[in-house]
Amino acid sequence: MANTKDKICIIGGGPAGLACAVYLEKKGYSNYTIYEKLNKVGGKAYSPKIEVNGEKRAYETGAIMGAITYHAVSEMEEFGGYYHKGPDFKPGEPNMRREYRNSFTGEITEPFNPKANFSLKKMIGLIKLKKQFKKLKELMETKYAGYDCYGHIGVASGKYSGISKIVPNAEGTNKDQAFPNYLVGENPNLKDLALPFSEFCKKNGVEEVQRIWVGPYTSFGYGYFDEIPAAYVMKYLDTTTAAEFVKLQLWTWQDGTQAIYEHVNARLKHPAVLQTEVVKVDRADGKVNVTVKKDGKETTETFDKLIVTTPLDWFANYADATDEEKDLFSKIVHEKYVDFIARFEEGAGPVISGYLFENMEPERLGHAMVYYHRWEDIGKNCPCTVYALRNHTGDPDVPYDKTLEMMKEDINKVLKFPIKEVLYAQESYYCPHVGPKDYADGWYDKLEAIQGTKNTYYAGEIISFGDMEDTCAASKDIVGRFF
Ligand SMILES: Cc1cc2nc3c(=O)[nH]c(=O)nc-3n(C[C@H](O)[C@H](O)[C@H](O)COP(=O)(O)OP(=O)(O)OC[C@H]3O[C@@H](n4cnc5c(N)ncnc54)[C@H](O)[C@@H]3O)c2cc1C
Repeated sequence: MANTKDKICIIGGGPAGLACAVYLEKKGYSNYTIYEKLNKVGGKAYSPKIEVNGEKRAYETGAIMGAITYHAVSEMEEFGGYYHKGPDFKPGEPNMRREYRNSFTGEITEPFNPKANFSLKKMIGLIKLKKQFKKLKELMETKYAGYDCYGHIGVASGKYSGISKIVPNAEGTNKDQAFPNYLVGENPNLKDLALPFSEFCKKNGVEEVQRIWVGPYTSFGYGYFDEIPAAYVMKYLDTTTAAEFVKLQLWTWQDGTQAIYEHVNARLKHPAVLQTEVVKVDRADGKVNVTVKKDGKETTETFDKLIVTTPLDWFANYADATDEEKDLFSKIVHEKYVDFIARFEEGAGPVISGYLFENMEPERLGHAMVYYHRWEDIGKNCPCTVYALRNHTGDPDVPYDKTLEMMKEDINKVLKFPIKEVLYAQESYYCPHVGPKDYADGWYDKLEAIQGTKNTYYAGEIISFGDMEDTCAASKDIVGRFF
């Protein structure tokens, strides 16, 4: 039973946790606490300021971009009063221009331009690609109708249920209108979405489209097409969003994505309690006892309800997890996405972002797949963020240090942009998901069945997908249905 007086604990001050607070407030709840272990909000939306030519600007280590399909993020912007730039970028704004380079020679290539290095083979390939893109779009709208809602409830058994991804401004202006646009229905074909994306494409005769999807999917750290259920690929990169990526109709934020969540946090009734890590959860007698650690001291607070937006496989380690929770959460896998920000020798860096398509294959694990040049006006002196994956199902992980070395070598030696120093490097717990077998076994329906048990609700990236839009929308969905 919804009771707006309930005292609610939210673990995590990333996009998911803050979005939960926003939607709780919209429903009239005000007695909530967000615990965040770091000294900042935004989670993987982290945008440190770096000084170049005497001026400090935001660079991205985590989330960068959005698109017109970012409805829930748009609601966060509205709440915080802080908005994106783009898709038509003006001088002095961060932008999304990019080129393609051969991963082995560093030469500029134009794989999607039929006129560049014209050959009949290339022309035929591009015609085939265009046809298959159109075919996939039609298939998704007909054979796979219902795929384009957030989350995965029912998909494994040929059903769908969730907030529509395609209806813009799905949120109303008042509490009663706050959570409409649910799609509910049956479509047995949706079971195909448990297949690895490469098999899904083969089954539907659209294998070529992987050439388009691989850029914004694999190079953005979301895994390889032979291991990832098609559901994740198509829910994140639905055909509208994929087309926006191709056309570069994208959003970025002047002060970085972190600023979205700083602005949201500043307007919340109860901003996140920082540098406060949840170290124990004990659920008994209809209450949730949460122990936090701050400045080395542990204290315990009692709540009515708990929303977990942090990795569920970690939650099982510090909470009084039931056998069912332990079993379910042990199936979660995540990507090991590595990135660093490189500063180049004076006047010797790239002037535009680059994709290295040959490095987006499992055989090239640990190699740089993409680099992000954010500020066009800084030209060759603009530090760039470089990205690689170091894990693939069935292969040994490339060690973290080795990955950094390989990435540096790709940039220094292959592309010939001499790195002067690495300003920041990290590996992210990235894109938690389940593999094709667990997906087909109804993992998401099992999770749905325990939502609310022991007054605990699960939100965050795993619910729909590991991007800002899907995580914020998942918070909207969980709060909308259970509070
Ligand atoms: C390199 C990179 C590039 C990306 N690019 C994009 C992009 O272009 N567009 C896009 O939309 N998304 C992008 N993302 C993904 C996006 O950042 C994430 O999907 C999003 O941040 C997930 O939000 P979340 O709140 O679920 O998790 P997180 O952002 O991980 O936040 C979880 C928070 O919980 C805190 N926490 C963890 N454990 C505890 C605990 N025990 N107690 C208290 N606090 C705890 C963490 O410190 C963290 O702040 C990118 C991410 C990375 C790393």
